[in-house]
Amino acid sequence: MKKSAELVWNNCLSFIKDNIEEQAFKTWFEPIKAVKIVDNALSIQVPSSFFYEWLEEHYLKILKVSLIRELGKNAKLIYVIRKGKALHNNKTVTQQIPSSERTPVRSQEVDIPITKKDPELKNPFIIPGIRNVKIESQLNPNYNFDNFLEGDSNRLARSAGLAIANKPGGTSFNPFFVFGAVGLGKTHLAHAIGVEIKEKYPDKTVLYISAEKFIQQFTDSVRKNNRNDFIHFYQLIDVLIIDDVQFLSGKAGTQDVFFHIFNHLHQNGKQVILTSDKAPIDMQDIEQRLLSRFKWGLSAELQHPDFETRVAILKNKLFRDGVEMPEEIIEYVAKNIKTNVRELEGAIVSLIAQASFNKKEVTLELSKQIVEKFVKNTKREVSIDYIQKVVSDYFQMDVDTLQSKTRKRHIVQARQLAMFFAKKLTKASLASIGSQIGSRDHATVLHACKTVDNLSSTDKQFRKYVEDLQKKLTL
Ligand code: ADP
Ligand code: MG
Repeated sequence: MKKSAELVWNNCLSFIKDNIEEQAFKTWFEPIKAVKIVDNALSIQVPSSFFYEWLEEHYLKILKVSLIRELGKNAKLIYVIRKGKALHNNKTVTQQIPSSERTPVRSQEVDIPITKKDPELKNPFIIPGIRNVKIESQLNPNYNFDNFLEGDSNRLARSAGLAIANKPGGTSFNPFFVFGAVGLGKTHLAHAIGVEIKEKYPDKTVLYISAEKFIQQFTDSVRKNNRNDFIHFYQLIDVLIIDDVQFLSGKAGTQDVFFHIFNHLHQNGKQVILTSDKAPIDMQDIEQRLLSRFKWGLSAELQHPDFETRVAILKNKLFRDGVEMPEEIIEYVAKNIKTNVRELEGAIVSLIAQASFNKKEVTLELSKQIVEKFVKNTKREVSIDYIQKVVSDYFQMDVDTLQSKTRKRHIVQARQLAMFFAKKLTKASLASIGSQIGSRDHATVLHACKTVDNLSSTDKQFRKYVEDLQKKLTL
């Protein structure tokens, strides 16, 4: 009698469950559904391509063993990946990939997590001699955890950073992807992790490098014809920190080489830490295979610090500089500079400087003048609410209509225009724009931006809308 797909899969599951950690089982196996069985091939449905990659990367061996127990040595596994709904007919689209289709050779070597070896013992590719060359870590000791103050805005990123520093390469936060707007502490946190690791594990090779410098080095290596040395060098590193990876966008050659370095490090249990001004999902002109790897570990956002955190950061800075300042003034500065820690620090530094150069008391009056300069100099960003208001007014509808689910053409167009301008004029992510303009997802926003681009180059009337709105919004 033939076994049903479900029965086979359930048997596999109970075998797998006995052999891996409970948390891993819950995360990676419970969401899987058995679909069908044809000959010796079992199809299982996984929630995303990320899942599929993860299973192939980490659980291939155990999947194989369990399947062979059930179906014999010709057993095959096919992943059915849900790709969401198609726009035109609302049917669920799926993609089917046989197990290890893309990586038939490497699949033999994949480890089962329970037997995970000590990452230190794992790298057999040390080039004799080179290990002794000391690699300068390029870390800034002034950026450490002690002076990276904790608040709601950074708690997740900060704690994950600490966990990584305790066990580099040994947590599931690999890679660790930190993102957030300028001046919110990405570079500081990235250094802090490196500094802490160096303190705990002086023998580990840590390297901090900006993506711009990495690109430069790579370009030089191509010019000098020593691309392989470049790659080898990076493969020696235990903890690689690359700051501002958004600069890799559009740089296909560097992305390719980074992809190989990343895979090498990751497979050998080395830690990779990346920062960016955007979430992986919002990054443009970055290869898909690289983006999907960015999402393997943990992405954590640094948000704008709340008032208490801003006050704490200021006090800490003043304390370290040995300067005393009236509470009232600290609070005034913290209240008025909200979006950028660098500016917050800048304002307090100017305040100290002004006061000491001119031998003036630091007064509230002086603080007002200085803060005003800082606030004025930072270009005002229009808000998404404001954009929706302006677009609705322009088309003589109210904001609720603009956000409604209707498919009426003129309303859809107004909504798409609002999304387009939100993308153009704010730093908000596609996902956040979508959620603010009628709870749509990031794909809808992306589609809207493309539609507006297309229409404004083909439709004269539409182009006029775009120009009018542009004027109203940026005046
Ligand atoms: P980013 O790389 O995100 O643009 P930085 O890491 O350069 O930002 O941070 C800007 C400034 O703000 C630095 O001087 C940094 O020390 C300071 N800073 C940011 N976040 C914090 C924090 N949580 N506690 C203390 N200082 C911070
Ligand atoms: Mg930075």
